[in-house]
Amino acid sequence: MMEPNQDQQKVNTHIVIPVPEEGTTSRRSKCKETCIQNVKENLILILLLGSVVLGVAIGFAVRTGTKMTKREIMYLSFPGEMLMRMLKMLILPLIVSSLIAGIAGLDAKTCGKMGLRTMAYFATTTLLAVILGITMAVIIQPGRNADRSKIQRYGKTEKLNTADTFLDLIRNLFPDNLIVSCITGYRTALKEEIIERKISNITFNGTGYGDLTNGSVVGDGVTSIIINGTNHTIDQVATVVREVISVPTKGETGQVNILGLVVFSVCMGVIIGRMGPRGKPIVDFCNCLVEATMNLFIVFIWYSPVGIMFLIAGKIVAMEDFSVLLTQVGLYFLTVLCGLFVHGALVLPGLYFLCTRKNPYKFMCGIFQAMATAFGTSSSSATMPVTLHCLEHNNHIDPRVSTFVIPVGATINMDGTALYEAVAALFIAQVNAATMSFGQIVTISITATAASIGAAGVPQAGLVTMVIVLAAVGLPIDDITLILVVDWFLDRFRTMTNVTGDSLGAGLVYELSKHELPALEATEEAEPTAVTTENPGSNKAVSNGTDSMTAV
Ligand code: ASP
Repeated sequence: MMEPNQDQQKVNTHIVIPVPEEGTTSRRSKCKETCIQNVKENLILILLLGSVVLGVAIGFAVRTGTKMTKREIMYLSFPGEMLMRMLKMLILPLIVSSLIAGIAGLDAKTCGKMGLRTMAYFATTTLLAVILGITMAVIIQPGRNADRSKIQRYGKTEKLNTADTFLDLIRNLFPDNLIVSCITGYRTALKEEIIERKISNITFNGTGYGDLTNGSVVGDGVTSIIINGTNHTIDQVATVVREVISVPTKGETGQVNILGLVVFSVCMGVIIGRMGPRGKPIVDFCNCLVEATMNLFIVFIWYSPVGIMFLIAGKIVAMEDFSVLLTQVGLYFLTVLCGLFVHGALVLPGLYFLCTRKNPYKFMCGIFQAMATAFGTSSSSATMPVTLHCLEHNNHIDPRVSTFVIPVGATINMDGTALYEAVAALFIAQVNAATMSFGQIVTISITATAASIGAAGVPQAGLVTMVIVLAAVGLPIDDITLILVVDWFLDRFRTMTNVTGDSLGAGLVYELSKHELPALEATEEAEPTAVTTENPGSNKAVSNGTDSMTAV
């Protein structure tokens, strides 16, 4: 570079503008430009990473400094709660409109093939996760030396019936009221009822005798009747006993019924697609709504680092006792963590590579933002808008595929949850010194798969469905309280695994299905949608992908 003469600079500082040699300058400025561009492109990721670190730091600093009341913790978590609300707000318009518009552009055969591939992927990965969980728990034996009486218990267990959980899942597939399904799903609530029952085979626990055929009991001290080992109060007429039974009644999940909306939107999409030009106004409307929602999302996404920071800080402050993590249930915690790592970093990418011959880690870099959001929110459902955005913008997955795979996956495909349920069940068995037979281990794998399907994509849903697994192999349901203390933390990691599994699934299904999609793309080229959106963290204006969903 030709350096300017110093005297010249002194005299004419405001006149002389040194023009350095072209090669060096352009190299330097290019380097600077590239750096700035890299930071710009990855700004949101840098901010997200920083927010996780800061959240942990703030959480521990506040925790050691003061003992916060529940109200104060609520105030601390408030910005995080706002993020959850913003993300959840987008779920409804995003899923319904993008699915209708996307599916309308596909013929029934393509749609069916895509559905089959998706289900095959979900079933395979969930099964692999369960097998991995069981293997890890059998090898590491996290509960072998744990003293059951010394492990502190937290919270209480919810009652759940396996058959009810499944029937609810099927019920939720077909919502009876679309408006209600935008607010809540169906969940069977168990109501306790007292019934009076006539019996004939009874044993007295006092010294008495009775003539049951004519309904009288006479005797000293007869206060109750034992039936199958359970005490029942005796009525004036001894043949009538009162029993408390659980009656299934209509209840609510309190969460949007995503599965129901997916089924409705897919069906509508297929029908509208068949209507041809007559269905075009609806498709155009849906495309427009997707674009608007995504633009709104791009505004919200800049708030996510703030929200995630406060969500994490609030959780750490609210945590019961951190020492428990490292002592009583430390090995269990590590087993689940190792399992999730192996599944998320090796098994899933391996499967993706096997099926697509593409670099899975490059793909995973593209969904980092979704993974960080999953870690922060502990909810696959709330992360959905971010996942869809990452897949479409960073990994260039056709939205017709991602908008189908992601909502279904966020509801029923939970590899992390399945793996954790299997480890937790075996941990509880080991703590109780119960030897599990091969049959029981098979039962655990089936029920853990079922429990992960039944779990909603909301924080700690897996803990609730855990009852199904324990009940199936006769383990004490109340022992769930043993692992509750670390659950909120594990939940973050398993949600990350769940989101990774869904995203890789979308990538895999896209790679296998893309040769079936071009017909539509050819039409799109002829009729492109002009709107583009700015990719957050990027200085590139990119198509938001909705143009590829223009009606046929
Ligand atoms: N929080 C998890 C999710 O949203 C579900 C769970 O395992 O509790 O994917």
